[in-house]
Amino acid sequence: MSEANESKTASSASGLSALTAFAGLKPKGACWYCNQPVDNVRRFCSKDCADDYRTEEESFSTRPV
Ligand SMILES: [Zn+2]
Repeated sequence: MSEANESKTASSASGLSALTAFAGLKPKGACWYCNQPVDNVRRFCSKDCADDYRTEEESFSTRPV
Protein backbone atom coordinates (compact mmCIF):
# COMPACT_ATOMS: atom_id res chain seq x y z
CA MET A 1 0.00 0.00 0.00
CA SER A 2 3.01 2.26 0.31
CA GLU A 3 4.04 1.75 -3.28
CA ALA A 4 2.18 4.83 -4.43
CA ASN A 5 4.13 6.99 -2.02
CA GLU A 6 7.50 5.64 -2.95
CA SER A 7 6.96 5.86 -6.68
CA LYS A 8 6.40 9.60 -6.40
CA THR A 9 9.83 10.65 -5.27
CA ALA A 10 10.39 12.94 -8.26
CA SER A 11 10.18 16.09 -6.16
CA SER A 12 12.21 15.05 -3.17
CA ALA A 13 11.89 18.06 -0.87
CA SER A 14 8.18 18.73 -1.18
CA GLY A 15 7.54 15.01 -1.32
CA LEU A 16 9.17 14.54 2.05
CA SER A 17 7.18 17.26 3.76
CA ALA A 18 4.00 15.91 2.23
CA LEU A 19 4.81 12.45 3.50
CA THR A 20 5.33 13.84 6.97
CA ALA A 21 1.99 15.60 6.92
CA PHE A 22 0.43 12.45 5.57
CA ALA A 23 1.89 10.29 8.33
CA GLY A 24 0.49 12.65 10.94
CA LEU A 25 -3.05 11.87 9.90
CA LYS A 26 -4.93 9.60 12.24
CA PRO A 27 -7.73 7.34 11.04
CA LYS A 28 -10.96 8.94 12.23
CA GLY A 29 -13.57 6.64 10.75
CA ALA A 30 -14.15 8.95 7.82
CA CYS A 31 -12.29 9.99 4.72
CA TRP A 32 -10.05 12.95 5.46
CA TYR A 33 -10.81 14.37 2.03
CA CYS A 34 -14.53 13.84 1.40
CA ASN A 35 -15.68 12.72 4.88
CA GLN A 36 -17.20 9.54 3.56
CA PRO A 37 -17.39 6.87 6.29
CA VAL A 38 -14.55 4.36 6.03
CA ASP A 39 -13.01 1.60 8.12
CA ASN A 40 -11.48 2.78 11.38
CA VAL A 41 -8.03 1.87 10.15
CA ARG A 42 -8.33 3.79 6.90
CA ARG A 43 -7.80 7.49 6.34
CA PHE A 44 -9.23 7.76 2.85
CA CYS A 45 -12.08 6.06 1.03
CA SER A 46 -10.04 5.75 -2.14
CA LYS A 47 -6.63 6.35 -3.62
CA ASP A 48 -8.02 9.33 -5.48
CA CYS A 49 -8.98 11.01 -2.24
CA ALA A 50 -5.55 10.32 -0.78
CA ASP A 51 -3.89 11.79 -3.85
CA ASP A 52 -6.14 14.84 -3.87
CA TYR A 53 -5.64 15.40 -0.17
CA ARG A 54 -1.89 15.24 -0.52
CA THR A 55 -1.97 17.60 -3.49
CA GLU A 56 -3.84 20.12 -1.40
CA GLU A 57 -1.49 19.60 1.53
CA GLU A 58 1.48 20.25 -0.73
CA SER A 59 0.09 23.50 -2.09
CA PHE A 60 -1.11 24.45 1.38
CA SER A 61 2.20 23.87 3.11
CA THR A 62 4.32 25.49 0.43
CA ARG A 63 6.38 28.04 2.22
CA PRO A 64 9.82 29.57 1.60
CA VAL A 65 12.53 27.86 3.59
ZN1 LIG B 1 -12.89 10.17 0.14
